[in-house]
Parts: sequence; structure tokens; C-alpha cells
Amino acid sequence: MIQWFRSIIPSNSLATLYGLALDCAERRVLGDEVEIVIHAYDETNTRIRPDRIAKLIRDGGAGVVMLVGVQSNQFPRATDLARAFMDHGIQVVTGGFHVSGVISMLDGIDPDLDRARAMGVSLFAGEVEGRLDEVLRDAYAGRLKPLYDAMSDLPGLEGVPVPWLPAKVAHRTANGMTSFDAGRGCPYQCSFCTIINVQGRKSRHRSADDVEAIIRSNLAQGLRDFTITDDNFARNRNWEAILDRLAYLRRVEGLVFNLNIQVDTLCHKTPNFIEKCALAGVKAAFIGLENINPANLAAAKKRQNRITEYRKLLLAMKNVGIMTYAGYILGFPNDTEESILNDVEVIKRELPLEFLEYSA
Ligand code: SF4
Repeated sequence: MIQWFRSIIPSNSLATLYGLALDCAERRVLGDEVEIVIHAYDETNTRIRPDRIAKLIRDGGAGVVMLVGVQSNQFPRATDLARAFMDHGIQVVTGGFHVSGVISMLDGIDPDLDRARAMGVSLFAGEVEGRLDEVLRDAYAGRLKPLYDAMSDLPGLEGVPVPWLPAKVAHRTANGMTSFDAGRGCPYQCSFCTIINVQGRKSRHRSADDVEAIIRSNLAQGLRDFTITDDNFARNRNWEAILDRLAYLRRVEGLVFNLNIQVDTLCHKTPNFIEKCALAGVKAAFIGLENINPANLAAAKKRQNRITEYRKLLLAMKNVGIMTYAGYILGFPNDTEESILNDVEVIKRELPLEFLEYSA
């Protein structure tokens, strides 16, 4: 577990589950006599005290703990937390990229998942839109299933309840930033990417109306900084309608908000994409540069990354005032200490980047 006083990136999974749960509460999916109360905690910026949460649940009558957006490096910690809640007699469901990725890519075979299963943790694979009613009803009846597998049926995103977090939760990130996904799925096939195995390669997207509603409801609670968590917003098939709507809200209604996005290295080739990003309020873009060695990029099936285009992309972003932040992977088969030092010098000389973040 890595925890900060103020974390940087807000959890979109948490916001998505909160929005869906809020919809369940409004629709009274457990019956008119049962009120559903939701509490959201992000352990990257909040100390989790299972005994206090268990007491809150007991005092409220009944409840379930949902550990959401759990990535592979977080899964052992999530299982430790699950054990602490289960020791208090609280039911636990764990979902997120680790469960979904293991079910999708490894047929569910994983010792960490085995440990959770053996403890009686219920696992959720896939996306929960359209399925939370069932999970809540099962939890209320005390009959959670060992596995909810929604991997083969990825939901459409238009018109479904949108991601949302209360301002007091969002204010635990630096700048009070919040997040939403305007779409899921990416058409590319980078070999190291789990996203395409979990969210698929087809673009599923929210409507411009949905995105406008997200912006307005957050402005109403004083939040105006957003990360759009699409792993590749440039390949969201509805990008233009969304950006046009956001630009309209800024230009005509004078609404003030800032956006961070993530894009691929060929997005500058889509006519008007970068210009419309700037008009819509995009202030920073994260770019999966990954590497500048063509042999490494080919080995990673990242063929869409062309180093000759990197500079053009970065200059196009600079021209409209969008800050660039790139991810760079060290340790590809062709990397050596010498080649890495050489590549870094080339980057410093050739690429007008603001930030480069290395991962190995
Ligand atoms: S471009 Fe990004 S999101 Fe798409 S497959 Fe490659 S790493 Fe994954």
C-alpha cells in the first residue's frame, strides 16, 4: 500500500461505483423500507479502520464492503483488509483490474485469487453497470455468489449512471481533483497492456449530455478539476461531440473547469483534435511514449508509436498551451545501461516534453 496525505490521481473506479450505488439507493432496489447509505474511502489518501467501518455497518443494520478498482499490486492488501472486515462478520466483494485480468487472461488461475476465494471473499470480474442491483440484493440476503463474471458482456455507457464522488472525498486529492471516464476500450494491441483484455478494443463511450451532467454536478459542489481517465481519449469515438460540448459550456456559459487527458502518440494526426482539446479546457495530456527504440516498440506491438511523430505531437500540444507528461518504460529486451543513457540524452535534446516518468 502506498498512501499520501493528498493523493494525485482520483480513483475513477471508486467514483463509478459510487455513482452506480447512488442510483441503486434512489431506485430503492432493496425495497421501499430499506434505505441504502454509501460511504466512499480511498486508501491512497485515507487511513482505513475496519473496526470503525464495521461498527458503522452494524449500527446501520446491515451492509457490505466493496473493494473496488483493486489492481494486481494492491490485491494482497485488499485481501488483508477483507480478512479484517470478515473477522467482524462483514461480507466483502472484491473487484477491479486484478480479478478481471486474471479471469480474462489466466482463466482465473492465480494463488492470490485462491487465497481470497478460500476466505469466502466474493469476486467481481468485469464492469458493474447493470449488475449492481443483483450484487446488493444478494448481499442483503446474505447470499453473495463466489464469483460474478461479467467479462463476456461489456456494457454500453450511454445513459448509464455517471461517476460521481462527494466533494469531501475528492478534496483528499491535491487540488480537489475528481475524475470520470468518458469512454472505455482502445483499438490498439500493446502487448504489456491489460486494459484491452479487460475493457476490450471497441470504443464504448458516454454521450456529450452525460459528460455535461458530470461537469455541472461537480461544479455545483465546488469541484472544477477533472481527470478524464479514458486510457486513450483520442480513440473515444465520441471525442468530438464531447469536446464541442465542453467548449460550448466554457465559451457561451462561461463555466470554468480544467481537464487532464491521456492520449496516444498519433492523436495530432486527427484533424482538430488537439485544438478542440484546448478549447474544451484540457490543460495537461499524459502520453504513452513508452520508448524511443523502434526495436523495443515493435517487440511490444506498439507499432502506432513512431518516434518521428513524437516531436510533431509534442509541439502541437505546446502550441495550444497543453502541458505534456509522458510515460517511459525501461527494461525492454533491447535496453542496456548504455542504450538507456543514450536514449535519455536523445529525449533531452529532441523532445519538447514537460515531464517524463520512468517505470521499469
Ligand atoms: S495505446 Fe494505451 S490503452 Fe491502447 S493498447 Fe496501447 S497501452 Fe493500452
